[in-house]
Amino acid sequence: TKGQVVVVGGGSGGATAAKYLKRFDPNLDVVLIEPIPRHYTCYGSNWYLGGLTRMDRLAQTFTVLRDTHGIQVIHDTVTAIDRDNHKVHLAGGDRLSYQKLVLSPGIDFRYDAVAGYGPEVAETIPHAWKAGPQTQTLRRQLEAMPDGGVFVMVVPGNPFRCPPGPYERASLVAHYFKQHKPRSKIIILDNKETFSKQGLFMDGWQQLYGNMIEWVPSSQGGQVEEVDAATRTVYADGGLTRFQADVLNFIPPQEAGRIAVESGLTGATGWCPVNQLTFESAMDPDIFIIGDASIAGQMPKSGHSANTQGKVAAAAIVRTMAGMEMLALSTVNTCYSLVGPEYGISIAAVYRYSDGEITGVPGSGGVSPADASLHFRRQEARYAQGWYDSITADIWG
Ligand code: FAD
Repeated sequence: TKGQVVVVGGGSGGATAAKYLKRFDPNLDVVLIEPIPRHYTCYGSNWYLGGLTRMDRLAQTFTVLRDTHGIQVIHDTVTAIDRDNHKVHLAGGDRLSYQKLVLSPGIDFRYDAVAGYGPEVAETIPHAWKAGPQTQTLRRQLEAMPDGGVFVMVVPGNPFRCPPGPYERASLVAHYFKQHKPRSKIIILDNKETFSKQGLFMDGWQQLYGNMIEWVPSSQGGQVEEVDAATRTVYADGGLTRFQADVLNFIPPQEAGRIAVESGLTGATGWCPVNQLTFESAMDPDIFIIGDASIAGQMPKSGHSANTQGKVAAAAIVRTMAGMEMLALSTVNTCYSLVGPEYGISIAAVYRYSDGEITGVPGSGGVSPADASLHFRRQEARYAQGWYDSITADIWG
């Protein structure tokens, strides 16, 4: 009989896994479950916030996966995983059997972490850390903000989705302000002491935006403890420091997507421990967890990571079902960030599994040079667009 693999989540990890499962074994029945018919990528959402692209350019659909690759796509939500009976329950009432299950549910927010912020508050004080309506709310607020206003971003500690993401966002909001509201200010309240590509970002900010962006590390008042939604005020430093925002972007601390938590697949940290050779859950040998939800050694929580992990899990499942042993595969990540429309920077690494963990291969990657020419930065900004086009084609095309 044909094997049946169910994939939960049609984002970067899940859609890749579905496509490559079918590619590695065309005889498999692959079912992809994703509630939202148009997936808006988070990558590129900062470009939209800065006015560089339209929202509909970030929409990915499942037509090609269904019509060309033969994947059964169901637009529904998985409400429970019955691990004992190998079944998933759908909100619409159906139950589906699986032999192997791939979970790529992304993140959910730890709304209990900071007083005064919760799901209701997020309607007016957006996190915009899942792309879609939240991103549009934030853009509308930035458009409505008067010149001379203050945009405050609250950034969580590690680990979280997309380590350079908040700083690219600050950059492109600065680009928008510089054109339309040049007297405005951006304050980043950070729950850590250092951040990804810090030197490159800070150099770029100075060159392009002067002193518009102020970054406050946790030891200097950046550790936010309370939000007053009504006045858009945040309190830090045991109440000693307060910042009042005209537009407030609060990015809460995160954990694995709800379904993974509720199915008992997360550890004490809120993320999913896996065998890093295969992405098989440490709690269940028939469930594979990839993308942001997983603990993947040194790999960052990025779309590119989720994409390579989807291929590894697909290979592991096909080999296991065929009774073959898994090979140690190399994985890769590149994160481009735009500091301005013509100013790109990047970080890249190749990873290898050894001794139970995924670690970066020494000398395999790195960040953009500190002293590069503007021509070089312009080239990297083009590569960022090229990366977007090729990764989305690999995942949903
Ligand atoms: P997602 O892509 O979020 O997919 C999860 C999917 O699962 C969703 O579609 C959701 O609807 C679905 N789902 C959840 N629960 C259920 C359920 N119970 N039943 C059915 N479906 C369910 N990464 C990069 O590589 N490069 C970048 O430049 C970059 N920029 C970013 C900028 C920003 C502002 C942000 C926020 C992120 C950025 N990222 C970037 C990170 C990237 O978006 C994520 O790492 C990536 O989306 C993770 O993929 P995933 O499959 O784990 O989760």
